Amino acid sequence: MSYSQLDRPVQFLKGVGPKRADAFARLGICSARDLLYHIPRRYDDASTVQPIGELEVGMDATALGQVRSKGVIPTRKGLRIFQAVIEDDSGMITAAWPGQPWLDRKIHQGDTILVTGRVKFFHGRQIQPRELTIISRGGDIDKNSGHIYVTYPASEELPQWVLRRIFGQNLDELLEWADDDEYLTIGELRTRELPPLSRALTWLHRPETIAEAERGRRRLAYDELFFLQLVQAQARRRVADLEPGIAHQRTNKLIRPLHEKLPFTLTGAQARVLREVYADMQSSRRMSRLLQGDVGSGKTAVALFAMLLAVEGDYQAALMAPTEILAEQHAISLREILSPLLVDVVLLTGSSSAPERRATLAALKSGSAKLVVGTHALIEESVVFTALGLVVVDEQHRFGVRQRMALMERDDVRPDVLVMSATPIPRSLAMALHGDLDLSVLDALPPGRVPVRTVIQTPDHREEIYKFIHQQIGEGHQAYIVYPLVAESEKVDLLAATDEYERLRRDVFPNHQVGLIHGQLSGTKKDSVMRAFLGGETDVLVATTVIEVGIDVGNATVMVVEHAERFGLSQLHQLRGRVGRGGAESHCILVAESRDEASERLRVLTETTDGFEVARADLQIRGQGDLFGREQHGRDPVLRFADIIADEELLVEAQKEARALIASDPELTSTEHQIIRAQLQGRYRDRLEMYAVG
Ligand code: ADP
Ligand code: MG
Repeated sequence: MSYSQLDRPVQFLKGVGPKRADAFARLGICSARDLLYHIPRRYDDASTVQPIGELEVGMDATALGQVRSKGVIPTRKGLRIFQAVIEDDSGMITAAWPGQPWLDRKIHQGDTILVTGRVKFFHGRQIQPRELTIISRGGDIDKNSGHIYVTYPASEELPQWVLRRIFGQNLDELLEWADDDEYLTIGELRTRELPPLSRALTWLHRPETIAEAERGRRRLAYDELFFLQLVQAQARRRVADLEPGIAHQRTNKLIRPLHEKLPFTLTGAQARVLREVYADMQSSRRMSRLLQGDVGSGKTAVALFAMLLAVEGDYQAALMAPTEILAEQHAISLREILSPLLVDVVLLTGSSSAPERRATLAALKSGSAKLVVGTHALIEESVVFTALGLVVVDEQHRFGVRQRMALMERDDVRPDVLVMSATPIPRSLAMALHGDLDLSVLDALPPGRVPVRTVIQTPDHREEIYKFIHQQIGEGHQAYIVYPLVAESEKVDLLAATDEYERLRRDVFPNHQVGLIHGQLSGTKKDSVMRAFLGGETDVLVATTVIEVGIDVGNATVMVVEHAERFGLSQLHQLRGRVGRGGAESHCILVAESRDEASERLRVLTETTDGFEVARADLQIRGQGDLFGREQHGRDPVLRFADIIADEELLVEAQKEARALIASDPELTSTEHQIIRAQLQGRYRDRLEMYAVG
């Protein structure tokens, strides 16, 4: 790997030294490169900075001036106020910070400060800043500020003015060194419509306009997405290309009769996705595909055809579900459809009896069983297949990446893998998170689905809600009532839910059967509660969040969510998906205080039943940060510059380029790719290790 000046420890830059280097390390800055990539968190346009002479009482203003005098003034009530008189070419104003006398130690006479706040009348004009930036200390000439004032992420030990001074001393040099990291040729920059790295960084540190800073950000966002996709493209290649897969033979001897037996015809979306799956399965390249589809979009039907393609070519297929009930439900419905085709379906779960288990294992080993449905019991060592050709993983977010891998990484078999998920995350996010997988999306529901009616109700309407539930039970239907349970207040929440259950049972539904399910119950207990509801023995199911994913109780027509404002939108959408599965009109009632701003957010759910739209809104509200939380290693967020929603086209471009590069030079060994290779190492050391399994 070639050495770049950018690899120098930050300590050796001008004005840093060992003590400040420690402080920098605490900001995550160790090398000259880290400092160069320490990008302002805020830009103030000079046009939004008002001349001090023009500030008027009542204005909310941003002003920039030099501190002429300052001091702490006590008031009669014992409050201490820090005041500073600041001046620019147009005039002077007093800035006052009640209750912050300690600022006297931070702000020095002669400092240039940037303040934002309301202008009040108090012995003349006075600005009370809610934001403060010390732009420079004493007589520092601030060569960084043109028309835009930049504010860096700072710390107690490295305040703004220190950072600005250090950038003032080093930025020219750092920007020259930036060319060392340029991995795109002039031609490539042009086709991608991106600026060279050094220019992008100049724009970010010393923008002439805010738009320039944005163009600079876009370049760094591309880089981030490109390297993320590169890691995933390598992982994808390792899974799919290096180890040859099975070229399944399509004979139609099962697929055709299935089309005839099925009580419906496939939707356009299902047919398209199926073509993608068939093409993967029939090629000798190993399939590694994620199938995304909203609840009820018909993923299981797609999986069924895929499994029959494997079986008609004399391979075995396995369907893995996250819970026993779900596995059983799958087995029952598959048997119903497949028995006329003379395809046996065996079931393997943790509670299979010993003789059952022995028989199933023998049938899988001998190859007499072609299709197996099960839970994670399927990935145990003792489960041996003769010719496992396809693994379908249902509701993948319930399984860890490890478990998914474990099923795929048997030394003897290289089955194709289809992972199904009902969490309708936006396509771009799926690409960013699962760039190692190919993506298929079921973007339409089967026809004739009656959309769930969703309303927001205030708690004082509870009696009406109960009346409505009584009415639905009277018509032979069932209802869910869900209470929130969050980690921070788990005990209190659980108590509240249990109390409510007692109250509902005793006072509200004395003549009906009410069940209770929550995470603290044992697996068997949960199972029996769910089974009672599934079988129609209970009318109302009180639950804390964990209503089994994907469970089908066609008869349930009401979903009430208490304290709906405490749930995420996507979570609420999933809960809503538990009803509306039969033919009858279904209702989702979100109970939330109307005054609460959070309930404004819930409106999205009353306006759309499209899970992707809900997910998009959710992502916009919550921000992308915590979405990467689980995948994150080390302190740096995976994406600092890229915005998954806004930068979707950049992401598509980055994925295309990354995959093309890996296809042409898988291990990045050619000389022209050495900069890319070095950067990849630097950026994703942890991730490379994570993906290097097997
Ligand atoms: P998912 O697993 O995506 O939540 P399912 O595969 O369980 O959805 O399908 C939901 C329901 O829709 C099932 O009852 C299934 O029989 C039915 N279904 C699936 N595809 C179609 C279709 N093309 N036309 C009509 N009904 C369908
Ligand atoms: Mg399903």
